[in-house]
Amino acid sequence: MSRLEGLYARMPVWAQHAAVSTYGLYWYWLRFGPGYRRYIKAYTERERFSSKEWQAWQQRQLHRVLQAAATHVPFYQRSWSKAEKAAALADRLEELPVLEKEAIRANPAAFLRRDMHPWPRLSFHTSGSTGTPIVSFTTVQEVRGSMALREVRSARWAGVSFQMPRAIFSGRLVEPDPESKGPLYRFNLIERQAYLSAFHLRADTASFYVDALRKHRIQWLTGYAVSYYVLAKFILEQGLKVPPLKAVITTSEKLLPEMRQVMQVAYGCRVYEEYSTVENVPFASECQRGRLHVSPDVAIVEILRPDGTPCQSDEMGEVVTTSLVREYQPLIRYRVGDCAMWDGTPCPCGRAMPVLKEVVGRIEDLVIGPDGRQMVRLDHIFRGQLHVREGQIIQEALERVRVKIVATDGFGPADTLKIIYRVQQRLGLGVEVIVEPVNEIPRTAAGKFQAVVSLLREQVAPEAERMGISPPRLQSTPRRTT
Ligand SMILES: [Zn+2]
Repeated sequence: MSRLEGLYARMPVWAQHAAVSTYGLYWYWLRFGPGYRRYIKAYTERERFSSKEWQAWQQRQLHRVLQAAATHVPFYQRSWSKAEKAAALADRLEELPVLEKEAIRANPAAFLRRDMHPWPRLSFHTSGSTGTPIVSFTTVQEVRGSMALREVRSARWAGVSFQMPRAIFSGRLVEPDPESKGPLYRFNLIERQAYLSAFHLRADTASFYVDALRKHRIQWLTGYAVSYYVLAKFILEQGLKVPPLKAVITTSEKLLPEMRQVMQVAYGCRVYEEYSTVENVPFASECQRGRLHVSPDVAIVEILRPDGTPCQSDEMGEVVTTSLVREYQPLIRYRVGDCAMWDGTPCPCGRAMPVLKEVVGRIEDLVIGPDGRQMVRLDHIFRGQLHVREGQIIQEALERVRVKIVATDGFGPADTLKIIYRVQQRLGLGVEVIVEPVNEIPRTAAGKFQAVVSLLREQVAPEAERMGISPPRLQSTPRRTT
């Protein structure tokens, strides 16, 4: 715990609300200060670009980014070969090497442009709980640009705005007492934003969260997908009455179709998915037609096969992105750690922004069978399992998988057998499956739910390598919460 966190923990609740609002004042300036309106206008105007206009725009931005990287960024100057530098200066992106997260973790300052000296210089630390912890440096203008992007392409598409009262589930430890009986949120008066604690959500506390939404006239929800899903299940089980909401925009965790259905019933509004990372590359958001559009003005997104060639539509590959908005710490051909596939069919909404068919779990969410087969789509294990509230798969050995479940009333031997059968169906009969009912599944330090925990990284890594997935790729970027 830092000194500030220690101080916060010792304050009475009223003072914590006040501290959150004071901090909120700073954030308000940071997010919506001078420059914000200009970004709103630019993002709104570009939204109706044709494919041709997008291409030309990206080409111009890429030229600017690659020139700066080759001439002002120590890491690229040092690590790119002569031929690669020439390729960069000639805008031939595909000839540049893919950038691994480890390089940034080892020396984040080597990625800063030497010709820029922004003040204040902001840094965001990724938690490292689910991947390589790195420091992302950014400028005030970049933060404002990223907020404007979210307002225009995420909130507005869902019919809401960051100017409306909202609630957020994120990794912030807003309630320091693990045994607290409430309130389990803190309210930022400046932005009319309720920070909900992702660490206290249980059957006996669910109504406190719903009360907070009512009390502060919250109009929309954003943040951790799994937390909202768990709360939705409690709402339905306990028949809690939710105040009218306009939309839920999930971030940070994968939104599965089943989760979306349950949430839409519980919250009585549409659920939209947003896909982004702490580094702000790439950015994709869901339009009214339910398609996940990549914003081409944020990054050039490539989806690559293990041999580095680009994937076709409907072909799963790794996401590699080149940021067009990170002026100060440029990331070029950056391996995000997620897998995705393109959708080749144009969206009926008319936007010429490319569509992702799916963003599949991170590569680290990989369970491997004794014969080398891999399983990344774990949601099937629990599909239709009405008596399972949450499930987590822990790979303890190549031949042993433990499935922790939080069961609801009615869970019985038939459910256990179904889980064992489904795991063995995917990993092979040689795998021992232990189904262990638990009271709760602990979250990571950042409050996130981990669907898969692998305890045999050392054993899994060589297996992954054999299958063409190199060990550094067993890392992924924590997704961003707004
Ligand atoms: Zn669309």
